Amino acid sequence: ADRRAAAEWNGVGATADGRRVRILGNVGSVADARAAAEAGAEGIGLFRTEFCYLDAPSEPSVTEQRAAYAAVLAPFAGKPVVVRTLDAGADKPLAFLAPEPEPNPALGVRGVRVAFARPEVLDRQLEAIAAAAAESGAEVSVMAPMVATAAEAAWFAERARAAGIARAGVMIEVPAAALAAREILEVADFVSVGTNDLAQYTFAADRQLGAVAALNDPWQPALLRLLALVGEAARDAGKPAGVCGEAAADPRLARVLTGLGMTSLSMTAAAIRPVGATLATATFADCEAEARRALGSGA
Ligand code: PEP
Ligand code: MG
Repeated sequence: ADRRAAAEWNGVGATADGRRVRILGNVGSVADARAAAEAGAEGIGLFRTEFCYLDAPSEPSVTEQRAAYAAVLAPFAGKPVVVRTLDAGADKPLAFLAPEPEPNPALGVRGVRVAFARPEVLDRQLEAIAAAAAESGAEVSVMAPMVATAAEAAWFAERARAAGIARAGVMIEVPAAALAAREILEVADFVSVGTNDLAQYTFAADRQLGAVAALNDPWQPALLRLLALVGEAARDAGKPAGVCGEAAADPRLARVLTGLGMTSLSMTAAAIRPVGATLATATFADCEAEARRALGSGA
C-alpha cells in the first residue's frame, strides 16, 4: 500500500484539506542530502553535523567546516535547512570534544552542554554555518541539541544571532524542555522534537539498550502528551514546531503528530514519500481525531 501511495504523493506536504506540514529530510552527509533531495524532501529538518566529524582527530577549521556544510546544503538552495550544532555525547563521541569519563553519559555533558563548556567551538561552528549558508543559497537556521531550559535556549539564540544567523531554534528532547515549551518559544524561533531522546528520557530507558527497547515506543500516550504540550505552545506562539526523531518516519504516527500541532516532519529519505502520501489522504480534522485517540489509549 505504501508503494502505491508513494507514487501518488505530489511533493507538497499537506493534509487532504490543505493544511501544510513540511516533509523534510534528516541528513548527516552529502550522500544523505542527495538521497533526501531525490526523494522529494522540501528541505532539511535535521542536519546532524557531528556525523561529519566522528573520525576527526582534532577540531576542523572554520574553512573545512564551511566546505563540508556547503556541500551538504548544495542540493537545497532556496529551501529551508536546519543545521544542528554539534551533538557530541556518549553515543557519538568526538575526539576533540571528549568529556571527562562520566558515570551516566546520557545524563552528562552532551549536546549544548558541551557548548557551555567550550563556547569558542560553538562560535567557530556558527561562523562556518553562516558562511556555508551564504555560499549555498539555502535558507539556513541553526538548532541546538539537548536543551533543558529557556535560559539555555536564550543563550544559544543570542550566540547564533551574534554570528549573523537569522533563525535559531532548539530541540525538544529533554522532558523539562517539553514542559517549558512556552518559555522556550519566547526566545527561540522554532522548536523540533527529537523523539528518540525524548522517549529515552521520559521512560528512563537507554535508547541503546535492547532489553528496554519496548519502553521507547513513540505511540505511548505519555510521550504524545508531551508532544501535545509542544504543539499547543507553538500554536499559541505562532511559531513552527517539528518532529525530527524516528517517530516522524512512521506514516500513521505522522498523522497523529500533525493532529498534535506539528508543522513539519523530518525523516530518513526512504520515509519521505510514504509519509507525504499518507498525510495527503487525511484531513486535519482526521489527524486531530487520530491524535485524540492516541492520547487517550492507555497503552
Ligand atoms: C532525537 O533524539 O530524536 C534526534 C533526532 O536526535 P539524535 O537521534 O541525533 O539524538
Ligand atoms: Mg537526540
